[in-house]
Amino acid sequence: MGWREIAENVLVLRGSPNTGLIATNGIAFVVDPGYGEGRAKSIHKKIESLRLARRFAMLTHGHVDHIAECKGFERVFAHRWCVGLAESATLRNVCEFGVNTTKGFTFITGDSVPITDEIWWGDEILGVEALDAHGHTPGHTAYMYGNVIFAGDAVFGDKLLNKVKILYHTDVPTAEETLKRLKEQIKGDTIFVPGHGPIVEGKRARELIEKNVEAIEQVKKDLWEIIKDGGTLEEITVRLMEFYGLKIEPEFVLLDMVPIRSILSKWLEEGKVKVEATEMGILWSAK
Ligand SMILES: [Zn+2]
Ligand SMILES: [Zn+2]
Repeated sequence: MGWREIAENVLVLRGSPNTGLIATNGIAFVVDPGYGEGRAKSIHKKIESLRLARRFAMLTHGHVDHIAECKGFERVFAHRWCVGLAESATLRNVCEFGVNTTKGFTFITGDSVPITDEIWWGDEILGVEALDAHGHTPGHTAYMYGNVIFAGDAVFGDKLLNKVKILYHTDVPTAEETLKRLKEQIKGDTIFVPGHGPIVEGKRARELIEKNVEAIEQVKKDLWEIIKDGGTLEEITVRLMEFYGLKIEPEFVLLDMVPIRSILSKWLEEGKVKVEATEMGILWSAK
């Protein structure tokens, strides 16, 4: 998969994640440089062929597969809350899995990625606007340029929706708010680039967002059935994963526990569930 021009002065290098390139004011704004040496080479070769003098990287969030190839950029932009995630592999791991993972798990962890410019939602950098899209991680940001929106991991493509079932968001209720807000931003001619998955336009983009909402709703529905029997967070997560036929491996359980914990905490706040500490651990059950 090579570069594709999706709008005037906007290109995308398809992959997982997708990498965007906005060419404006003599600058290459690269949204999520991604992961892997080959990808870095392809990005810089493209910038050279376009004869753009300056190179800025714009990060949607601090997950390593989106940020690993930030070398060779004059400036690297990230939301204030994402800076720690990008710069500290420890903070990234703790935020992503609830633990500073070691080599015992097979995750890619990556190095520190120094951020030169902190941004906030609503900021505009030479025509590139930072949109509030958090929930997947704290500070997660989408970028809008003209009629193109780079959504990062606020919205997942169809294939991933079918494969993972339990969508990874550190803060599920906030991720749901983000989905609602992003849907409102979609116009008939909007070109929408999710972090993982094909580029969709207008109506199809709205449908994809709806599917993401439905996937979260389905998890809540199924989780509600499972929690009726009670259990620890780990037990409940594994039961739900088994129900969906997902692979039960330590790292996947660790990952899936994050959004499940977020949903349970929200229900605790709302008084729908109760928790008690026992010798088995913290038991969650429906009220
Ligand atoms: Zn991510
Ligand atoms: Zn991602």
